[in-house]
Amino acid sequence: QQQQQHHHQSSSSSSSSSAAQQQEQPIIVKEVINSGGQTHIKEYKQGEFLGKGGFAKCYLMTDLETNKIYAAKIVPKSTLQKPRARSKLKTEIRIHSSLNHENIVKFEHCFENEENVYILLGLCNQKTVMDLHKRRKFLLEAEVKYYVYQVIQAVLYLHQNKIIHRDLKLGNLFIHNMKIKLGDFGLSTRVEREGERKKTICGTPNYIAPEVLDNSNGHSYEVDVWSIGIILYTLLIGKPPFETPDVRNTYQRIRQNQYTFPEEPTISDYAKKLIISILNPIPEKRPNLHQILENEFFTLSTIPKYLPQTALTMIPMIR
Ligand code: ADP
Repeated sequence: QQQQQHHHQSSSSSSSSSAAQQQEQPIIVKEVINSGGQTHIKEYKQGEFLGKGGFAKCYLMTDLETNKIYAAKIVPKSTLQKPRARSKLKTEIRIHSSLNHENIVKFEHCFENEENVYILLGLCNQKTVMDLHKRRKFLLEAEVKYYVYQVIQAVLYLHQNKIIHRDLKLGNLFIHNMKIKLGDFGLSTRVEREGERKKTICGTPNYIAPEVLDNSNGHSYEVDVWSIGIILYTLLIGKPPFETPDVRNTYQRIRQNQYTFPEEPTISDYAKKLIISILNPIPEKRPNLHQILENEFFTLSTIPKYLPQTALTMIPMIR
């Protein structure tokens, strides 16, 4: 099975002291591979810092054998003391390593040494849709269709494989060569039994579905549909629908389904209707992913086949 994960033992890096880091000497990470009584040592060069997540730091990492460059999520084992944290990382690795889709960040390899767990991912060279949103605020409807169509393709694939992502948000939508790559499977879960309801409260405040907050009946695939509605609104309007300075206030608005469409920017009635249908407080009443793609918003005019790279910083010249 492709899900199987090999954790190779590895020796500590020879030059990972803080003094070496200050002198900007390259940090060499060694992976010790034992197979069939033979020991092979692979070396990687840890490069530029890319960003920081919940418990991981991300760096460029070059395989010195092949010169291939990855994005490496480095998780210090000191953060994995609690069984909860360990099983969370294990779940993330088990789920992400089983996935293979053009709109999902590629899981390349994973190994550990005494200090850290290293997760090597396909490098995404154009930041995330969050950075795009911060720079451009609201996007053209054609652009939103272009990006969200790809997000839906990724989530269709996940749901077909009985996986709920549970943390769909702009910051987890990476962009690589102008294509969407969905990442961060830290909150994802596999549905083990048909009709199973998940009870773990998780998500990101602005994107969390009302049934997760309420939690009396648990939640399932529909939470991903809800957050696609939040993503649509945010990209078309320029700010999230339930956002307030205080998260408790945000949760209250989510519970009461309290949001409006401002006069500016004006969006099409199709877009508005689609968002309203997705942000239905009752999970079963939301459209499914196929129904969303069949909606006029996506079908009445063509979805762009590609966007120019300049669209990351400027309004592109498209309809
Ligand atoms: P966490 O799961 O701990 O939240 P993330 O997956 O969000 O960690 O990664 C943290 C940061 O690392 C991101 O915000 C981004 O800057 C960078 N990063 C993560 N994965 C990649 C990737 N595949 N390509 C490029 N940068 C990445």
